[in-house]
Amino acid sequence: MSSTDFSSLKLHADTLQNLMSLGYETMTPIQAQSLPAILAGQDVIAQGKTGSGKTAAFALGLLEKLDVSNLEVQSLVLCPTRELADQVAKEVRRVGRAIPNVKVLTLCGGMPFKPQLGSLEFGAHIVVGTPGRIEEHLRRGALRLAHLNTLVLDEADRMLEMGFQPSLDAIVDQLPDERQTLLFSATFPEGIASIAKRILKKPIRVTVESTH
Ligand code: ADP
Ligand code: MG
Repeated sequence: MSSTDFSSLKLHADTLQNLMSLGYETMTPIQAQSLPAILAGQDVIAQGKTGSGKTAAFALGLLEKLDVSNLEVQSLVLCPTRELADQVAKEVRRVGRAIPNVKVLTLCGGMPFKPQLGSLEFGAHIVVGTPGRIEEHLRRGALRLAHLNTLVLDEADRMLEMGFQPSLDAIVDQLPDERQTLLFSATFPEGIASIAKRILKKPIRVTVESTH
């Protein structure tokens, strides 16, 4: 049995205090099962329903590794839609608000391109976006991911349903091999198994059926 107390994890004291101030008193089941492996740097496949707290699970993982003094993109979170990317960015900022000067940038399709180029010039530590637009920024050389240490595929099943597989492959092609990859999905169809096999290394698999 894993503990559900956030203080059982090796989190920065300020982050722990921030979680308490957000009212995150105990870990949700998927957080309790995935966070020890995530914080240990392992690749993780986590399957759990909507509302189970998956965002904070990966947010804590990428924030604990973040080097704020290095204004390079260190984490990339891919989401199926702009709405989800905006929600994820908001939650990453909330969970990370005890760490000064963390820059989170969203890059999504359906938004004007040029302002995104301007934002990229200012730099970001964490990029959250949709696969098509991220692929486009990579293709144009506007987004560089040589310093990336963590890739997150959020709602991976929906990204595949929406036809993002070629974009995902093109993006992964550009990433350092030496990285942590975290895959979150509500369901685990064959397509997910095959993409996981291609892009994750010795993943720990965690499944939580209910939110309570
Ligand atoms: P999922 O991605 O699994 O659908 P979210 O990450 O969006 O779920 O989380 C659902 C809600 O639960 C969010 O409002 C979030 O702030 C809240 N939440 C996450 N972790 C905790 C926790 N440990 N304690 C209390 N609330 C939490
Ligand atoms: Mg989610």
